[in-house]
Amino acid sequence: MTTPVTIARGDGIGPEIMDATLKIMEAAGAKIAPEFVVLGEKAFNQGIDNGITDEAWDSIKRTSLLFKAPITTPQGGGYKSVNVTLRKSLGLFANVRPVRTLAPYVHTKHENFNMVVVRENEEDLYAGIEYRQTRDTCHSVKLLSRTGSEMIIRYAFEYARAYGRKKVTCLIKDNIMKISDGLFHKVFKLIATEYPEIEAESIIVDIGMARIADTPERFDVVVTLNLYGDIVSDIVSQVAGSVGLAGSSNIGQNVAMFEAVHGSAPDISGQSIANPSGLLNAGILMLRHIGQGDVAVKIENAWLRTIEDGVHTADIAVKGTNPVSTQEFADAVIANLGNKPQTLAEASENAHRTVKMPDPTKTTKSERSKKLVGVDVFIDWAGKDIEKIGKNVESISIEGLVLKGISSRGMHVYPNAEHNAKVLSDQWRCRFTNDNGSVTNEQVRQVLAKLEAMDYDWIKTENLYTFDGDHCYSQSQGE
Ligand code: NAD
Repeated sequence: MTTPVTIARGDGIGPEIMDATLKIMEAAGAKIAPEFVVLGEKAFNQGIDNGITDEAWDSIKRTSLLFKAPITTPQGGGYKSVNVTLRKSLGLFANVRPVRTLAPYVHTKHENFNMVVVRENEEDLYAGIEYRQTRDTCHSVKLLSRTGSEMIIRYAFEYARAYGRKKVTCLIKDNIMKISDGLFHKVFKLIATEYPEIEAESIIVDIGMARIADTPERFDVVVTLNLYGDIVSDIVSQVAGSVGLAGSSNIGQNVAMFEAVHGSAPDISGQSIANPSGLLNAGILMLRHIGQGDVAVKIENAWLRTIEDGVHTADIAVKGTNPVSTQEFADAVIANLGNKPQTLAEASENAHRTVKMPDPTKTTKSERSKKLVGVDVFIDWAGKDIEKIGKNVESISIEGLVLKGISSRGMHVYPNAEHNAKVLSDQWRCRFTNDNGSVTNEQVRQVLAKLEAMDYDWIKTENLYTFDGDHCYSQSQGE
C-alpha cells in the first residue's frame, strides 16, 4: 500500500538533500505518494507570517506525516521559527535523535557509541515567550509543565524498554533553576521507579554535556529539556563525525514529522557538497514508522556500504581523498542497493519497535492547595539611589502586604544588602508578602495604585503562591 506523505523541500541545502534522498527512496522501492508543500522562506516571502502555507496545513491534516528538509529561521526580527510552530501546533512532544559512530570509516575521537537523545519538544525557553521590559532589560520565559515533563520522561523510558536499552540519563540544571528544572528532575525520579529494569541517572547539564563529549560510550538514552536537548544532540552528532549524519523523528499522538538534526546550512547552500545522510536517516526512520521496514533496511545497508566504500561528502571525507558531491553520494547509495556493509553492523528489519505512547490525561499531577501569599512588582526606574527607592517603596506597604525586599537582576539590594550591591540596571523587583496569611487581589491592586500615585512605572507583576504550604517562588541571591 502506498502511504501519502507531506514533503517540504526546505531552504538552503534543503532542496539539494531532499532531492537526493527522494531519489534513493524511489530507487529502493519506497511506496510513498509525496504531496509537496511550501514551508519556510518561500512562504515568508509570500507574506505568510508563520511561514506555513494553507496547502501545507491541509496536506499535513490529510497525511498525518511530514518529511521535512531544514528550514531557515531569519535571525532576530518578527519571524517565529517554522520548526517550533510545527512541533507545537502538531503536538510533536518528543524529538528522538539516535546517533551512532561509523568508525573507522568516519573519523571520530570516540569509536564506539550508540546514543539516543530524547528531547522535550514543546516547552522550555523554546516556547519563545519574550519581552523587552525596560530600556535595559529583556525577559525570556522558561515555561515547563508537569504534564509535558511527564510525557517526555515517560516516552524516554518507554523507548528504552521497547528498544532494550539499559540506562536513561536525565540532564537538568536544578542546582540553579530549582523550581523549573527541579520539577523535571522530581518527575524523572518518580517515573523512573516504574521502570526498575532500567538504570536511571541524573546529571547537572553542564558536566553532563562535558562527559557526553568526553566519554559518549557511557551514555545510552538521554532525556532532557528542549534547549539542552537541542545543544546536546548537535554535540553528539558532531562527535560522531558530522552534524550532517543524524536524522530525527518528532513524535506526537496523531502526527509524526521526520527531519535531519542539522539546519539549512546557508554557508554551503547551492554548492552540491552537503551530506544528505542526516535527511536520509530521517527517511529511514519514517519508512520504519509507516511499516516499510524492508525498504528501510535496504537503504540503510546500502548507505552503510557506501560509507565503508569511502564515498564521502566533504564534511566526513578523509584528508587527502576527493569528496563526492551530494548527487554522486546519492548515486553511490543507489548503486549499492542490495549490498550489505562488510564490517559495520548491518541494519535489521526488526530494528523498529512500537513505543507505548504516554497518555496526557493520565499524569500524576496532584491537586495541591494553592494560596496567594504575596506579589512581585517589577518597576522601570533609571535612578541609582537604592536607599531612596527602598524607603519610597517601603512607605506604600499596606496592612497584610508589606515590602519584604527589592532585588535587581536577581540580586537582593534592599534592605540590608550585603556587599554593597551595585545596581547597573533599570529593572527592580519589589517583593510584597504577607508572612502570616493570604493576600487578596484587591490588596495587590492597592499596592499598584500607590506605586502609580508615586509615579513609579510598574511593568509587570508576578503572583507569589504556596502549594500545600510550600513556597513556590525563588529567593533573590543574597536575600
Ligand atoms: P546548520 O546545522 O545549518 O549548520 C551548522 C554547520 O554545519 C555549518 O557549517 C554547515 O555547513 C554544517 N552542516 C550542516 N548540515 C550539513 C550537511 N548536511 N552537510 C555538511 N555540512 C553541514 O546550523 P546553523 O548555521 O546554525 O543554522 C542555519 C539555519 O538553519 C538557521 O536559519 C537555523 O534557524 C536553521 N535551522 C533549522 C533547523 C530545522 O529546520 N530543523 C535546525 C537547526 C537550524
